[in-house]
Amino acid sequence: MKYISTRGKAPELSFEEAMLSGLARDGGLYVPAEIPQMSKGDIAALAGLSYEEVAFRVMRPFIGDSFTDEEFADIIARAYAGFGHGARAPLVQLAPNHFLLELFHGPTLAFKDFAMQLIGQLFQDALKRRGERVTIVGATSGDTGSAAIEAFKGLDNVDVFILFPHGRVSEVQRRQMTTPSENNVHALAVNGNFDDCQAKLKDMFNDFTFRDEVRLAGVNSINWARVLAQVVYYFSSAVSLGAPQRKVSFTVPTGNFGDIFAGYIAKRMGLPIDRLVIATNQNDILHRCLSSGAYAKDTVHASISPSMDIEVSSNFERALFDAYDRDGNAISQLMDELGQGGFNVSQGALQRLREHFDSGRASEEETLATIANARKTMGELLCPHSAVGVKVAEELRDPATPMITLATAHPAKFPDAVEKASGIRPGLPPRMADLYERPERVTRVPNDLDALETHIREKIGS
Ligand SMILES: *Cc1c(COP(=O)(O)O)cnc(C)c1O
Repeated sequence: MKYISTRGKAPELSFEEAMLSGLARDGGLYVPAEIPQMSKGDIAALAGLSYEEVAFRVMRPFIGDSFTDEEFADIIARAYAGFGHGARAPLVQLAPNHFLLELFHGPTLAFKDFAMQLIGQLFQDALKRRGERVTIVGATSGDTGSAAIEAFKGLDNVDVFILFPHGRVSEVQRRQMTTPSENNVHALAVNGNFDDCQAKLKDMFNDFTFRDEVRLAGVNSINWARVLAQVVYYFSSAVSLGAPQRKVSFTVPTGNFGDIFAGYIAKRMGLPIDRLVIATNQNDILHRCLSSGAYAKDTVHASISPSMDIEVSSNFERALFDAYDRDGNAISQLMDELGQGGFNVSQGALQRLREHFDSGRASEEETLATIANARKTMGELLCPHSAVGVKVAEELRDPATPMITLATAHPAKFPDAVEKASGIRPGLPPRMADLYERPERVTRVPNDLDALETHIREKIGS
């Protein structure tokens, strides 16, 4: 199994190499050279299996010879052992033919745990075998950082540093980053906003001396291994509702397009999916693009669903690559135009995108109203991201086809917005009820590249 870059000018890599390098050297994103296929029989055989067994069968063909069967099964077992629900990704019913896929039973209460826990264990085994050590640095507006710290804490061959904007993440998110006591995790509160954190991260990757010296590695959402981990729950949930005999649709609260792109991969592998619905908040570059063909940057407005507050959607490049018949030159050109502010998707490519994807948006008021209404009429307390999904799904779904909306975070991760909408302050699950009592450990750092690099060098003793 080989991986190629969406910009066509980077070397082909194995699964393990693509995972460890993250971004391709030509600035592109890695995708499998060919999509493995699952027959109707293969899919039917998933019925009744554990989540871990489904994960093994769905992901195995993408891994190639990077890991043996035994190693890979063991990695999967370790990745999901810490989840608070035996089904890992349980389905609940909201309305006739509308279901919610609860992806928030992992250690940090958001769907990012599905990918991050797996990638932590994959890194651990790969680095041990190679006798290498890496420094992971990530920037976060909340959920990615907590999931990364939880996944990499205490692992032998990794130091993890997470930059977050001081005073601008929710208390639960902050405490999830600052309370782990393992020596290899470092929460850094930057004097700045999320864009400053991301810019500093980018500068570190572009400082090749520093990058090589500390062996910098990235685990942001463009890492192919993260996308792959998310393909699994599309299969497990669709099979629960009768696939491959019955088609289903999915609605996905979307920011960087990683989660919904995983659904597209499931479809390309042979899972009978009817529609993949992109649900955005008021930062709706994707909805505007699907509607008009114009992919144009706009200012980001802070919302009550902050994990979807994006200016551009990094994984969308992977969907464009297929829509442009895998023409790396065409994608390079579009990304150059994006640097100048935006581009227009060609008619042919737009038509291909619309064969798979629908889109809708939810305003702040609509999101709050959906939280209140779902509590009253569906018996579910939704987080604001999941509420964006439910609102768009109710608007666009075909009543004859089962719709599965992805619930991407637990309501207790965003208690202020949920309380404002519903009058109910959601409590943390019992297994983490002492989060507010645990001691915090965090370093305040200036918004300055030299200071950050010096801090990281000192901590890892390089
Ligand atoms: C990251 C995140 C999203 C957006 O996922 P993408 O893969 O970036 O589209 C949605 N909801 C929550 C709670 C998240 O943490």
